[in-house]
Amino acid sequence: MIPLAVPDLSGNEGRYLQECIDSGFVSSVGPFVTRFETAVARAAGAPQAVATASGTAGLHVALTAVGVGRDDLVILPSLTFIASANAIAYCGAMPWLLDIAADRWTLDAGLLEQVLQHETVMQGGRCIHRATGRRVAAVLPVYTLGLPADMGRIVALAKAHGLPVVADAAAALGATVQGQPVAALGADLTVFSFNGNKTVTTGGGGAVVGAGSLLERVRHLSTTARPGEAYDHDAIGFNYRMTNVQAAVGCAQLERLAAFVEAKRQIRARYEAALQGCDRLAFFPAPAGYQSACWFSGVVVEGVDQDGMERLLAGLRQDGVAVRSFWKPIHQQLPYRQAPSTAQGVSDGIWFRILTLPSSTGLTEADQAQVIAAVKRRVQ
Ligand SMILES: *Cc1c(COP(=O)(O)O)cnc(C)c1O
Repeated sequence: MIPLAVPDLSGNEGRYLQECIDSGFVSSVGPFVTRFETAVARAAGAPQAVATASGTAGLHVALTAVGVGRDDLVILPSLTFIASANAIAYCGAMPWLLDIAADRWTLDAGLLEQVLQHETVMQGGRCIHRATGRRVAAVLPVYTLGLPADMGRIVALAKAHGLPVVADAAAALGATVQGQPVAALGADLTVFSFNGNKTVTTGGGGAVVGAGSLLERVRHLSTTARPGEAYDHDAIGFNYRMTNVQAAVGCAQLERLAAFVEAKRQIRARYEAALQGCDRLAFFPAPAGYQSACWFSGVVVEGVDQDGMERLLAGLRQDGVAVRSFWKPIHQQLPYRQAPSTAQGVSDGIWFRILTLPSSTGLTEADQAQVIAAVKRRVQ
C-alpha cells in the first residue's frame, strides 16, 4: 500500500533523542524545547514561539489568552478539522460557523463582512451576535491544507469590530503570501501542529507564535500559570508544554523544513500536470500570490455523489493506494449541530468530493506514477 503521509525521520532525529536520554532531560524543560521554539519562530516569521503538547492544545491556550470565555462565540469556517471547533468548546464558548470561499477553501471574507454588518451590533466596544445575544470574542481563520486565508480582509474586518484573530495554521508552516511568511499576515496569534501526519512532526505537538505580552500570556497559561518557583498560581492554567523528547525530534525535522515543503510542492505539481487532461477532475485552489505549504495534494472529483466517492475510495485502496476523503464540515458534526451556522452551500457541495492522495515527502516518482495511473483508470 502506498501510504497517505508518513514522516521522514532519517535526519538527526535519532542522535538528538539519544542526547535527551544521555542528559536526562526528557520532560518539558530542556535545551531542545528552547531551540525548537527559536527555530519555529524563525520559520514562521514571528518574534517568538511557545511549544505545546499538540496543535489542539495550542489553539485552546491561544483562544484563552485572547480572552475567549464562557458563552462567547468564535467565528470560524465550517470546513475544518474538528479540533478547531473543539478548542472553542473547551473555552466554554461556541463556534459560529461560516462558509468557505469557493476559490480558496478558507473563510469567506465577503461573508464575514456581511454577517458582522447585519448580524452583530456593537455595544460598549463589544461585538454582540443579535440572534443569540452572545458576545463574539474572536475570529479563527483556518489555513486549509497549508493555504493561508484572505488575511488582509479578515484582519481588517476583525479589527474594525474589536475582535482578536487567532489563525489555525496547523499545516501551514512554510507557506507565504506575496513572499510574507505565515506569521506575518496579521493574526494576533498563529498556531501550528506537529502531529505525526503533518509536514514537520514531533510525534505529537504544536506551537503558538506571536509577540509581546500576549505570547507571554500563552507561555504562562500553558505552564499552569505559575509566575515563580513556588506553587503560587494566578489563573487556571494548563499543562500544555511540549517535552524535550518531542522537541528533539522537531529540531531535527525543522532542519529540513525547506526541503520537505519543496518536496510537497513538487508532488502537487506532478499530480496536476499528469491529471490535467481529465475533465472529471479539478484541483485544489491556488490564489495568485499565495504559496501553500501543500500539506496534502489531491483532486476534486466532479459530478459524483457521496456513494460514488465511497466506491472510488474503495477501488483505489484495492489498487494499493491509500486515499482519504476530506473533513466533513463542522455544522454537520453531531456535537455542533446547534451552533450558529451561516450559508454552508460551498462546504456542503464540495467536502465529500475532495480526494487526498499519497503526499509523503519521501514519495518516489515511481509510486506517484502508480497513484496517477490508478486515479486515471478509476475516474474515467
Ligand atoms: C492537524 C490539525 C489540527 C490539530 O492538531 P493536533 O496537533 O493534531 O492537535 C487542528 N487544525 C487543523 C486545521 C489541522 O489540520
